[in-house]
Amino acid sequence: MINNLFGVRFAAIRGMDTTVEKNRQPGNARVLVIGAGLAGLCAALELGRRGIGCVLLEARDRIGGRVWTLDEPALGFPVELGAEFIHGYAPGTLQLLDTFRLASFEVPDRHLLAQKRKITGLPDFWQRIEPALESRPQGNTDVSFHEQLERLPLPPHDKSLARAFVEGFHAADPAELSQRALSLESTAAGRIEGNRAFRLLRGYGALAAELAAALPATLCELVPRAPVESLRWEPGQVEATTTGHLARRFLAEAAIVTVPPGPFQRLTFSPELGEKRKALELLRSGAVLKIVLRFRECFWRRKLAQDVYFIHSSQRHFPTWWSAQPFQWPVLKNTLFFAGEATQAAGLGGTVESAIQSGFRAAAEVAAALSAQAPHARAA
Ligand SMILES: Cc1cc2nc3c(=O)[nH]c(=O)nc-3n(C[C@H](O)[C@H](O)[C@H](O)COP(=O)(O)OP(=O)(O)OC[C@H]3O[C@@H](n4cnc5c(N)ncnc54)[C@H](O)[C@@H]3O)c2cc1C
Repeated sequence: MINNLFGVRFAAIRGMDTTVEKNRQPGNARVLVIGAGLAGLCAALELGRRGIGCVLLEARDRIGGRVWTLDEPALGFPVELGAEFIHGYAPGTLQLLDTFRLASFEVPDRHLLAQKRKITGLPDFWQRIEPALESRPQGNTDVSFHEQLERLPLPPHDKSLARAFVEGFHAADPAELSQRALSLESTAAGRIEGNRAFRLLRGYGALAAELAAALPATLCELVPRAPVESLRWEPGQVEATTTGHLARRFLAEAAIVTVPPGPFQRLTFSPELGEKRKALELLRSGAVLKIVLRFRECFWRRKLAQDVYFIHSSQRHFPTWWSAQPFQWPVLKNTLFFAGEATQAAGLGGTVESAIQSGFRAAAEVAAALSAQAPHARAA
C-alpha cells in the first residue's frame, strides 16, 4: 500500500506598455484585488456578491497562493504542498466548506515523540506545551518567546517540546517571535478547539477552485501572471502597474492588497504608506521546507505496531512529521485596503482561516467605503 510521510524544516526566512488598461477591465470594475490566495479569492467573491466589480491580479499562473494541492490520480488522494489542516472549528472555513459542499474529516489527535532513536507515545502533548504558548508577558511590555520560556518554571523537556512546536508550526525564530502575539493566538485557537485537526477530502485546492469558479464572470476578472510592482494612489483612485510578460496598468477606485509580508517589501507605493509600512516591517515570514515522501508500504505499522499521525522530535532539520493517515491589514483614506493572513490581528494568524476572514473583512470595508462616497466625489 502506498502512503506518505510529511516532514517540515524551517530556516531563518519585475517592458511596459503604457496603455492605461481601464477599458479592458470589466466596465464596472471598481476595485483591484492583488493576490489570488484564499484572502484575495474571498475578497473578490464578497465584492461580487455585493455587486461590486473587481479585477483580481495574481503574480503566478495559478490561484491559491500558499494553498497548493497536487492531484495525483495514482495516489488516490490529494497531496498538500502548502496548507493542509483546518485547525479546530474555524468558522469562516467551515462555512465555505458547507457552501461548496466540500467534505472534511478529522485527523486523530495522536502524537509520538522521536528521541534518541526511540519512538514513544506523547498522549499529553498539548498539556505539556500550552503553558508556554499561552503564558502572557507581564505588564504592557512584550518579550520574545525565547525570553519568556527562560523565565517559566517548566520542566526542561516541556520547554524543548514547546520550542520545537513554535519553530515547526509557526515557522518562527523563538528569539524573534512576540510572546504577546503567540499567547493571543494560542488563546484564540483554544476557543475553537484549535488542537483538533481536520483535512479536506479533496484538499484545500478544491476550496480555492470552488471560490474561483463562484466569481461572477460579469463582475470579476482574474488576471494570472500579473505581478504588481507598484501602486500609485490618491483618495478614490488607484493605479497598479504589473511587470513581466503582462506589463500593464490597471485603474480602479480602491484596491485590496493581499500580498504576504515578504513580497510586500518589494511593492512600491506612491505616496508611501508611512505608519502602515513601519508596522509591516515588524512582521516576519518564516521560511518553510515541506517534503512529501511516498512509501510502498506503511512500514511503521510493522515496526511500531501502531498507526502514526504526528511525530515530534528535537532533531534540528526536520522537527515535525506527519502521515497522510487516516487517508491511505486597515484602510488608507478609503482607497487602499489590506487583507491576507498577516493582517488579521485577533488571533489565528498564519492560517487559512485568517486569510478567509481577512478577505471577507476587507471586501466589507471596501463596500462600506464605496457606498459612503458620493458618485461625484469619485475619481474619473
Ligand atoms: C507549507 C505550508 C503549510 C501550511 N499549512 C497550513 C495548515 O495546515 N493550515 C492552515 O490553516 N494554514 C497553513 N499554512 C498557512 C496558510 O497557507 C496561509 O496562512 C494562507 O494560505 C495565506 O493565504 P493569503 O491569501 O493570506 O496569502 P497567500 O496564499 O500567500 O496568497 C497571496 C497571493 O498573492 C500573490 N502575490 C504575491 N505578490 C504579488 C504581487 N506583487 N502581485 C500580484 N500577486 C502577488 C501570490 O502569488 C499569492 O497567490 C501553511 C503555509 C505553508 C507555506
